[in-house]
Amino acid sequence: ARAWHLVARPVGEPNPEDFALREEPVAEPAEGQIVVRNLHLSVDPYMRGRMNDVKSYVPPFALDRPMTGGAVGEVVASRDGRFAVGDHVLHDLGWREYAVLDARHAFPVDAGAAPLSAYLGALGMPGMTAYAGLLEVASFRPGDAVFVSGAAGAVGSMAGQIARLKGASRVVGSAGSDEKVRRLVEEYGFDAAFNYKNGPVAEQLAKAAPDGIDVYFDNVGGEHLEAAIGALRLHGRVTLCGAIAQYNATGPVPGPGNLALAIGKRLRLQGMIVMDHEALRPRFVEEVGGWVRSGELKRDETVVHGIEGAVDAFLGMLRGENTGKMIVSL
Ligand code: NDP
Repeated sequence: ARAWHLVARPVGEPNPEDFALREEPVAEPAEGQIVVRNLHLSVDPYMRGRMNDVKSYVPPFALDRPMTGGAVGEVVASRDGRFAVGDHVLHDLGWREYAVLDARHAFPVDAGAAPLSAYLGALGMPGMTAYAGLLEVASFRPGDAVFVSGAAGAVGSMAGQIARLKGASRVVGSAGSDEKVRRLVEEYGFDAAFNYKNGPVAEQLAKAAPDGIDVYFDNVGGEHLEAAIGALRLHGRVTLCGAIAQYNATGPVPGPGNLALAIGKRLRLQGMIVMDHEALRPRFVEEVGGWVRSGELKRDETVVHGIEGAVDAFLGMLRGENTGKMIVSL
């Protein structure tokens, strides 16, 4: 079976040559283990950080070893009472065709309740990030005006729609193409949206949210964060979720030049890591699952087919080729 290895640590934007698709034997499962045939793999921005040899909240990928990441698949052999052959599971041994893992590291998913790939997106880690980031970290309240960057992506598209469904007074989004901007307004129900490549973010944000914002859900950092600090009203709140504009940076990046505004405006800027919010999961499953089933919340995917395409999918996601969640389907 094939698995993607990291073979060189990227400097700046990763190259296809930093990765290799290698043949690996599928180990016999030990007692307590299962063998999973992966059906959908996730490629996520945080994986770029794991390619660097630096300490973070997750350890770096080892060189010349299969990379890891979210995946859903079908159990094809089981030596654990928790799972039977044919069950579907979510686990973290992605980037490969077959995974052998301890059953306690696998989570059952219901193929009848939603398409399996949804457990990597709207109903999985990115959806949970949006839900927790908005409701818990940003302390969202009905009536808040919300700005979301990376708004056509997996997390952003959920954050904006959750804000709308929870009673935001105005939801504004930014994304990197005119087609994505159209989608934000026409499909996801954002009140206004703009293409950050069409002009300075601060100017476009001022037009899209003329009365300012109460919450900024930051997926991007950099110029977006500075613009949001300028637009935030008194007691505004920022969820620092991601800073994808700088993940390929090779040196220090400038901070927001207007951070001192946070003092007079009594702003709160709070970082988040989704794993800290597990207590919220039952509410997330019920509420977001309900909105997805009713169609009130739209869930997009960009699908790349075949294990061969996984690196292209990852690189494409970093460049903005995805709308909604980027998925590799095997
Ligand atoms: P997305 O589906 O949003 O894909 C990444 C998107 O980033 C691309 O589609 C692209 O869209 C955009 N992008 C790339 N480069 C830039 C740039 N220079 N400026 C602005 N936008 C850019 O990914 P996710 O939804 O999975 O993740 C979104 C963010 O959330 C990331 O920053 C990620 O690290 C973070 N995250 C944080 C978590 C946490 O626990 N803190 C958990 C999960 C995600 P476009 O065409 O619009 O440029």
